[in-house]
Amino acid sequence: MDAKMEKELQMLDYEEKEQAEIEEQKQFPWCVICNENATQRCIDCDGDLYCDACFRECC
Ligand SMILES: [Zn+2]
Ligand SMILES: [Zn+2]
Repeated sequence: MDAKMEKELQMLDYEEKEQAEIEEQKQFPWCVICNENATQRCIDCDGDLYCDACFRECC
C-alpha cells in the first residue's frame, strides 16, 4: 500500500464545486406595486422591491 500515491490520487479527484448562487433571489426584480423594473428595496417593508416612483411613496 503506497500511502503517498493514494494521497495524490485523492488530490487529482478533487472537485471544484462551484457554488450555485442559490441564495441569490430567484424573484425577478419587479416593483411589487406596478411591475416596473425595481430599482429600490425597502427594508422597512420586508425588503420588498420598488421602482423609483413607488419607492418614493412607500414609507
Ligand atoms: Zn412601481
Ligand atoms: Zn417601505
